[in-house]
Amino acid sequence: MNPDTDSTAAGIDLGAMRRAIAASRQALADGNMPFGASLVAPSGALLWVAQNDQVTSGDCTGHAELVLVREVTRVLGAPALRGATVYASGEPCAMCSGAMFWAGVARIVFAASQADIIRTLGGATLPITCAQVLQGASPALRVDGPVLQDEAVEVLEGFARPRAA
Ligand SMILES: [Zn+2]
Repeated sequence: MNPDTDSTAAGIDLGAMRRAIAASRQALADGNMPFGASLVAPSGALLWVAQNDQVTSGDCTGHAELVLVREVTRVLGAPALRGATVYASGEPCAMCSGAMFWAGVARIVFAASQADIIRTLGGATLPITCAQVLQGASPALRVDGPVLQDEAVEVLEGFARPRAA
């Protein structure tokens, strides 16, 4: 079965996910952690793309999903987040999952899983899945993933690889 066809059937916007993965690649190029996120309105319109900035901003909470929530709130207004879908290149951590819940996001789709992130990046781990964080949330959020996992993992592996001079 074609995974792209399956994803389309599940209402997953692979284009939006590829934008998130492209943002993860750009974050890496900019010296940040390799993560990106995009926001899709209930209408299907792509509203925003954000990337991790935790190194360049010096702010440990500069994860892509939190950057997205902050930028969208400031520029488009908080209502743009309500009922929307966030596409994250990496499975959101507990902090970001909570922030998206409080922002009123309806659905989260991720590419690389938390296990992929731990395996490729190592370092500090907060081993609770996005679905576990949001289990029992009211209103409920839908969590899907991994989607386009290989494309996202390739970027993570670029971080893990020693940089060529
Ligand atoms: Zn996070």
